[in-house]
Amino acid sequence: MTYSYTQISQYLRCPRSYRYRYLDGWREKDTRAAMVFGRCFETALAAYFSKQDCTATLFKEWGAYREAPLDYGKGDSWNKTLHQGIHLLHKFAQDDRVQVRRPQKNLQLKATRALPDGNEFVAYIDAIGHLDGQPCLIDWKTTSSRYQQEPEGLLALDPQLVCYSWISGVREVALVVFVRKHLPEIQYLKTSITDEQCNEFSQLVESTISQIEAGKFLPHSGIRFPMNGCTSCSHLGLCLGNQQFVDSKLIRRPGASDLDWLDQLAD
Ligand code: SF4
Repeated sequence: MTYSYTQISQYLRCPRSYRYRYLDGWREKDTRAAMVFGRCFETALAAYFSKQDCTATLFKEWGAYREAPLDYGKGDSWNKTLHQGIHLLHKFAQDDRVQVRRPQKNLQLKATRALPDGNEFVAYIDAIGHLDGQPCLIDWKTTSSRYQQEPEGLLALDPQLVCYSWISGVREVALVVFVRKHLPEIQYLKTSITDEQCNEFSQLVESTISQIEAGKFLPHSGIRFPMNGCTSCSHLGLCLGNQQFVDSKLIRRPGASDLDWLDQLAD
């Protein structure tokens, strides 16, 4: 069985949601504009590092969704998102703080790690390159709000960065956050992951997989007034028995679970 960060984090968030998605085949419909745009933007970044016209690449990739019925956030539109993306690409080139040599090899790297009982863990790392001249592993994020930086040291707790550091052996890591807002901004955030964090992540992966293989899928509804994690869960309709919610959010692909690790490319 092949596991990914997305699978482990989904199980830890709510085991019932994991079961719906990976065992029963209920997948979220690919209609979130922000997620689709993030994939187009990463393709444009790959063009930038390959010395191609990244603006034209973004226009071509995002242009394929111009008439698509995507769900946009409040005040967002296809046009506005495109202009924010172009602005961010220009700013990224002007800043010139990130270098990725040999982009064919160092972008979207596949990393694998053997796990006990014949299982395997697979991750796709956005880039291995240099930030401000320092070698590091890099993860791109496109978002509509800034990544929280306070209190100091918060970034080192990011579980996805810990995962990538664990699987790659690279301890210097960075998030490059492309913030789509009125005045687009790019955050360049660096941190170091310790060996101890990686050892603990390894134990977390093994204990999570043992729970999955033991068939433990109790719901963790996460309700704590006034926050309710279920309201942002795509499987809410299944838990509520609300067919209208199910039809609007989900599509069922039974038997597709062996390719589910691919979905981490959408993170
Ligand atoms: S709606 Fe709540 S309990 Fe149900 S799967 Fe989602 S997070 Fe879990």
